[in-house]
Amino acid sequence: MPNPPSSSPPLGWRVFNDQLVPDLTVGGYLARGQSVSGACDQRDCRRRFWIDFDNLIRRGYAPFPVKELKALLLCRKPGGCAMGFKDSLEGSGLTLKTLSRFAEVRIRLRCTGCRWEKSITPDQASAQLKATGTGGSDTLHTDLLAKLSKPCAKCRQTAWACDVVWPQAKPSWQGKTRTGPPRPDEKPGQDRLRSR
Ligand SMILES: [Zn+2]
Ligand SMILES: [Zn+2]
Repeated sequence: MPNPPSSSPPLGWRVFNDQLVPDLTVGGYLARGQSVSGACDQRDCRRRFWIDFDNLIRRGYAPFPVKELKALLLCRKPGGCAMGFKDSLEGSGLTLKTLSRFAEVRIRLRCTGCRWEKSITPDQASAQLKATGTGGSDTLHTDLLAKLSKPCAKCRQTAWACDVVWPQAKPSWQGKTRTGPPRPDEKPGQDRLRSR
């Protein structure tokens, strides 16, 4: 498989406000190799299933949000449904090794207590995990947060946040626009900053 251009993340992932986020559509789950299973424990239901993403894509559901799909899978019986969903660990994150192929990508660690932050390369993150014996280059970026047990050097709290910063060649429209509902005269896709 040819390498994608350095500014776009692997299939199944997107960049929003210069941060890596999973593509939450049916197509995104399939591309990441992430599966979803469900189970209802109500004694007159007891349904167990997994979502067949392959089949859904053949039927044209690729752009459909998985969150809405889950809502459609609840049973309709009186008293409601006790369906619980589980997204697989597999495909839930990218390995540090994969992230290190993209020169511009950084792991940003933030203390939510005092707002101290630090950005490191994926290779630096794997080296630190190796040094503490808690992981390495095969560690998923989504597992990093659980491995940060040290308190913040500045405020002594252990309240970390961790993002993958993915700068884009062209600034994305998302970060530049005002928030809130569109104006009545606004056309879809119009750059909101320049619209007035
Ligand atoms: Zn049910
Ligand atoms: Zn702090």
